[in-house]
Amino acid sequence: MESDILNLDSALSLTEEEATSVVIPQSDWDKGVDGYRFTLVGHLLSHRLIHFEALKVRLIQLIQAARGVTVRKLLETRFCWVFNHEEDLRQALDMRPWIIDRNLVVLQPLSQPEDPLSISLDWCPFFVHIHDLRLGQRSVDVLRYIGNYVGVWLDAANIERDISWFENVRNRLNINVSIPLKRALRIQLDTGASCIVRFSYERLPNFCYLCGKLGHISRFCDLRFQDGYVDLGANCPFGAWLRAPGRMQRVGGTTDSILPTYVWSSHQTTTSSSDQRRGA
Ligand SMILES: [Zn+2]
Repeated sequence: MESDILNLDSALSLTEEEATSVVIPQSDWDKGVDGYRFTLVGHLLSHRLIHFEALKVRLIQLIQAARGVTVRKLLETRFCWVFNHEEDLRQALDMRPWIIDRNLVVLQPLSQPEDPLSISLDWCPFFVHIHDLRLGQRSVDVLRYIGNYVGVWLDAANIERDISWFENVRNRLNINVSIPLKRALRIQLDTGASCIVRFSYERLPNFCYLCGKLGHISRFCDLRFQDGYVDLGANCPFGAWLRAPGRMQRVGGTTDSILPTYVWSSHQTTTSSSDQRRGA
């Protein structure tokens, strides 16, 4: 703030009258933020331009706050959900990801003295399944190592029960939605053994089978419009197999995801198949 003022001062060459300072107590300066109590800042991650009034109706229908919510426009694609009760806000956070027309609504709570126009909206929690992790490796420490590669590990679902007996290990991770989805990870042990684990995501919104980013599908991907682009057909590096069947509401995608099969090896890992489907 102070540096911005100094920059403006030098850029505008303020007159003597304009340069006269008005003294405002810091406590009064920050009062405006109180208006954002119980507030989430949101952004619809979509390449399509959606009229805000239409988006506003969908946002109110989507959240169905028990004690009411107001939608305020910040920018054409950025808004605030202002709740009347803290419990509604907590549920909105716990139930992420929120999705409208297969597009992700990224949300962050607003706290003093953050600016709702500049707050980062790059992260969203997802339930992520880790595949091909053998029973003996399914400790919380190993899950944390892997989860912090995919994003930021929050916790493991079913941790109160015996997670080693589930088909896939289900983790709650904070994912950076501005970068491509992580598909797999090679794990190297200090003994020389290695393996590859794969990932799939519950309630995955639209994403691009060419670049792996959320917010657009392959038909609109920038890669497709670059010189020398070669159509990959059904051999895109990302595909519907990244979708995991959710245990709550499922949005979009197919339930019969076919995953490439990796084989554990003490020295190397091989891929036996990769049935990747054409982008949606
Ligand atoms: Zn793309």
